[in-house]
Amino acid sequence: MSLTTVDKKVPSLCPICHKVIEAHLFEEDGAVKLVKSCQEDGEFEDTYWSDANLYRKFDQYEIDGDGMDNPNTHSEHNCPFNCGLCQNHKTGTLLAIIDLTNRCNLKCPVCFANAEVTGHLYEPSLDMIREMMQNLRDEQPVPCPAVQFSGGEPTLRKDLPQITAMARDMGFSQIQIATNGIKLASSLELCRALVRNGMHTIYLQFDGVTPEPYISLRGRDILSIKMKVLENCRRSGLTSVVLVPTLEWGVNDDQMGDMVRFAVQNLDVVKGVNVQPISFAGRIDQEERSKRRITIPDFLALLEEQTDNQITREDFYPIPFVAPVSYLIEAETGLPQVLFSVHPHCGAATYIFHHQGKLIPINRFVDVMGFYELIKDVIADFNGSRLDRLKMNGKIIKELPRLIDESKAPDDLHVTKMILNVLKCGTRESLKEFHNKTLFLGAMHFQDLYNIDLERVQRCGIHYATPDGRIIPFCTYNTLHRQEIEDQYSVDMKPS
Ligand code: SF4
Ligand code: SF4
Repeated sequence: MSLTTVDKKVPSLCPICHKVIEAHLFEEDGAVKLVKSCQEDGEFEDTYWSDANLYRKFDQYEIDGDGMDNPNTHSEHNCPFNCGLCQNHKTGTLLAIIDLTNRCNLKCPVCFANAEVTGHLYEPSLDMIREMMQNLRDEQPVPCPAVQFSGGEPTLRKDLPQITAMARDMGFSQIQIATNGIKLASSLELCRALVRNGMHTIYLQFDGVTPEPYISLRGRDILSIKMKVLENCRRSGLTSVVLVPTLEWGVNDDQMGDMVRFAVQNLDVVKGVNVQPISFAGRIDQEERSKRRITIPDFLALLEEQTDNQITREDFYPIPFVAPVSYLIEAETGLPQVLFSVHPHCGAATYIFHHQGKLIPINRFVDVMGFYELIKDVIADFNGSRLDRLKMNGKIIKELPRLIDESKAPDDLHVTKMILNVLKCGTRESLKEFHNKTLFLGAMHFQDLYNIDLERVQRCGIHYATPDGRIIPFCTYNTLHRQEIEDQYSVDMKPS
């Protein structure tokens, strides 16, 4: 690993006037800091990543994707005000978000959508939703494979099962909702209707395993509602729930270990924990910001501490780490695949297993780095012929056992066979077997106007589809574009 001190300039924004300004990333006290200065609004400092060594490790995996062949906006300049996607964007849509409403049955102080407080109702019609989805499926060279319905609270729409069916019929292979779970807890019938209509995954807002984080982040204790959601998911066959905590110092930073233990105890329905360190909406002064800023390495350090090092920061990998797998599937199938060319500092992830009361990250028995190098090697040598494909597969099958230590793996796992199945077949069934036995553990740090790095934004793979036909990276939508879109497509709400 290169030990070069972090010293880099990246384009950013003034958090007050939103002008593009340069930010300097540098190393201080073992962390990576950011400082930027606006002529009108002064200087701003922040922590960009709280562990410089991990920053360097992740940095090695940066790759450039090719973005979309059919961008929606065409100006060469003016990033990030030209989102559309434009032709300079480097990653296609890995996951699309469609806000179905800005109504909500909670009033969370941390909410991006700020639902209901404006007096304006944003609720795209079925036709508009169909057009947004078509726009995503028309993306080239890879139609967007995954859509997540969000809001506001998407379950407040009575036509959610119908919208889900529409997504299924339009060919999305992964359909999700991001929900607080209140409706799912109160209606087993809704859960069943969602399963029937093709819903795959519930992104369940889940801030902790005690009442306190809910009172602080959501304004009331809704822990028992979350338990009821899991019960209803279990009963209805919705067996892919991802727990999504918003992580904040002093609110739930002491619950990360407990959260993972809770997840593995509910592995029949919970397939992942995806932590979101809090990002700040609106203005927040320097002192308050340095007290409250929490970054991905902070989360990993908490996890280490709270799992007695069963899970450590070294067990995590940046998102583009899996990019060679896309090249491999592309070589196998001859079809273009979505490329996980997201910026390496946007997220971190791993898979863990639960065996005899212990949490075991996948890299404890799979030489993940060796596997990564093997795939890179076979892809580099691949010339596209059928014979070469056979040779490539032969090499992987031959080398794989050397990279897996079955003696350290959970007994019933048959890891070599399982990974071979996924590689050889790549089918939903073989992936399902993998997902049934593992817990996905990830974190994504959405950006705010204080820590925004436009290089991260330009590699973003999580995109909003909007009713004006645009596709906008998540972190620019929530910092810059949301207001304009919602103003344009909202109607005044009738007083209730
Ligand atoms: S963030 Fe991406 S889509 Fe938006 S203007 Fe920049 S490069 Fe283009
Ligand atoms: S949503 Fe934000 S944090 Fe996530 S990949 Fe996009 S730019 Fe990065």
